[in-house]
Amino acid sequence: MITLDAVTKVYPGGVTALGGVSLQIEAGELLAIVGPSGSGKSTMLNVLGTLDRPTSGSVRIDSYDVASLSDAGLSALRATRIGFVFQQFHLASGVRAVDNVADGLLYSGLRPRERRRRARAALDRVGLTHRLDHEPHELSGGERQRVAIARAVAGDPAILLADEPTGALDSHSGAGVMHLFHTLNTTGTTVVIITHDQDIAASLPRQIHMRDGLITKEVR
Ligand code: ADP
Ligand code: MG
Repeated sequence: MITLDAVTKVYPGGVTALGGVSLQIEAGELLAIVGPSGSGKSTMLNVLGTLDRPTSGSVRIDSYDVASLSDAGLSALRATRIGFVFQQFHLASGVRAVDNVADGLLYSGLRPRERRRRARAALDRVGLTHRLDHEPHELSGGERQRVAIARAVAGDPAILLADEPTGALDSHSGAGVMHLFHTLNTTGTTVVIITHDQDIAASLPRQIHMRDGLITKEVR
């Protein structure tokens, strides 16, 4: 489903964030990319999710070679195939949960009514049916992350990429969010979780360990 081959990423200024990584992720997997701060995990997520292009090497998503797609083509691929979850939720403040999720479908071509219907269904999947009209400041951290996950899955992406999704949560809320990722995986979504937390990584069926921009170890 996703194949990286000898991928490097060198940022302007000369930092080598990825030093040549090769990795294959199959449909239906649930895996962790784990490593200390600065090891290149977020860079890896950006490359896996086509938010950023590699400096060298190749990235394939489904049958598409990312290098051969235009920026507009990549946006379309992302919009239909990939959902993102971030540590800091990235919800719009002053906007109700249902609209935060529905707005994630703005570029889907769906009508507003259908967008809202799907948003309600997604919020139902994450257990927030009773919080549709709440704004982010009226929700706990765990609930905010659930709204963000609902937004990420509302368009039924094949792949969910999460960057330190429990990093801003207390351990109880974090455990709830991890349980949700397991459930989403069970219902068919490929889930990649980036974490610096060895325990979270160990709770998943596959771990890719990173250090200094390289994969140092893989455990299944
Ligand atoms: P992690 O997510 O594991 O903490 P990152 O992928 O964010 O690691 O960063 C890997 C390395 O690349 C670090 O040394 C970081 O300082 C550097 N880096 C990350 N983003 C940029 C950027 N936009 N410009 C320059 N250097 C960056
Ligand atoms: Mg990071």
